[in-house]
Amino acid sequence: MENRIDDILAAAAAAETADMDWGSLVFGYYPTDYNVRCEYKDGKWGDIEVSDSVTLPLHMAATCLHYGQEAFEGLKAFRGKDGKIRVFRMEKNAERFRSSAEGIKMAPLPVEKFCEMVRLVVRLNKRFVPPYGSGASLYIRPLEIGTTAAVGVKPASEYMVVMFVSPVGPYFKTGFKPSKICISRNYDRVAPKGTGRFKIGGNYAASLASGELAHEKGYSAMLYIDPKDKLYLDECGPANFFGIIDGKYVTPKSDSILPSITNLSLRQLARDLGLEVEERHILVEELKKMSEAGACGTAAVISPVSEVDDLDTGEQFVISADGTVGPISQKLYDTLRGIQYGEVADEHGWCEVID
Ligand SMILES: *Cc1c(COP(=O)(O)O)cnc(C)c1O
Repeated sequence: MENRIDDILAAAAAAETADMDWGSLVFGYYPTDYNVRCEYKDGKWGDIEVSDSVTLPLHMAATCLHYGQEAFEGLKAFRGKDGKIRVFRMEKNAERFRSSAEGIKMAPLPVEKFCEMVRLVVRLNKRFVPPYGSGASLYIRPLEIGTTAAVGVKPASEYMVVMFVSPVGPYFKTGFKPSKICISRNYDRVAPKGTGRFKIGGNYAASLASGELAHEKGYSAMLYIDPKDKLYLDECGPANFFGIIDGKYVTPKSDSILPSITNLSLRQLARDLGLEVEERHILVEELKKMSEAGACGTAAVISPVSEVDDLDTGEQFVISADGTVGPISQKLYDTLRGIQYGEVADEHGWCEVID
């Protein structure tokens, strides 16, 4: 097996860049050459395996199919200005992947094994890392599922981690433009003491109906209100939310919010710029005081918000009347992107170069 992986890697390293129309890629799934897998059995993780199959061997009674034992991650690799491939903060994703697994009683994958799998899956699909300047990147999707056949409700004893990659286009096809979002107290993504801080499929299933409702009404996302007191801003669709109030970077803090690595990084960059950072409960009314706001996550870095409409009261909170992006959001966005593409000095050591 080791020899076989070495041979495949050597061929992948020598391969020409894939012939794709990089400029027209959307944020979607495109097939690549290989995925990597690792199975947990008899109380331990096995060797990392390379596969060229896009399907999984799965028992119909596997716990992931019935009881939602599924967690995932999302991170990206970028082709830099210097031609090098950089992966952004993967140890943080590895730690969160463990936390999510533990949150739904799955076996947590060791951090080092996660990183090894990321390096391997990127190297194996090197020809799909989009060229610098295309605005595209290589999205890496790790996932873990419970595979034990069971009917009674209990955690599996066997698990599988799979990581696949897909080249993805820039989130903003038509440039970095603010959009409108909405709020409603009639929908919760998660419960107050529930699973909101874990990156699991179950939370997404619970958010699809409200997300589609927002889209049908012409909004880019639903900004959830905290599920307990129904007073505070929570998660923004599948992303974190932040605002600028009196020159401070403020972002909701709650146990029902997924700790975004993009938000963590933006908070650091905001401090680097000399901004005060507050992680706290934010009342809906405070939207009135925001000079800028945005959703943040790996897919888009920042999706600026121009207006928040309260579907329950009819109130409209206008954040950017002229529909332009605020200077702080622009600066944070440019700096983070710049670090990822090797254009800005990586002072915090966030990127790992993969050769
Ligand atoms: C993945 C995710 C985010 C963003 O996290 P990043 O690490 O910044 O990509 C935010 N909210 C939810 C619910 C998520 O699943």
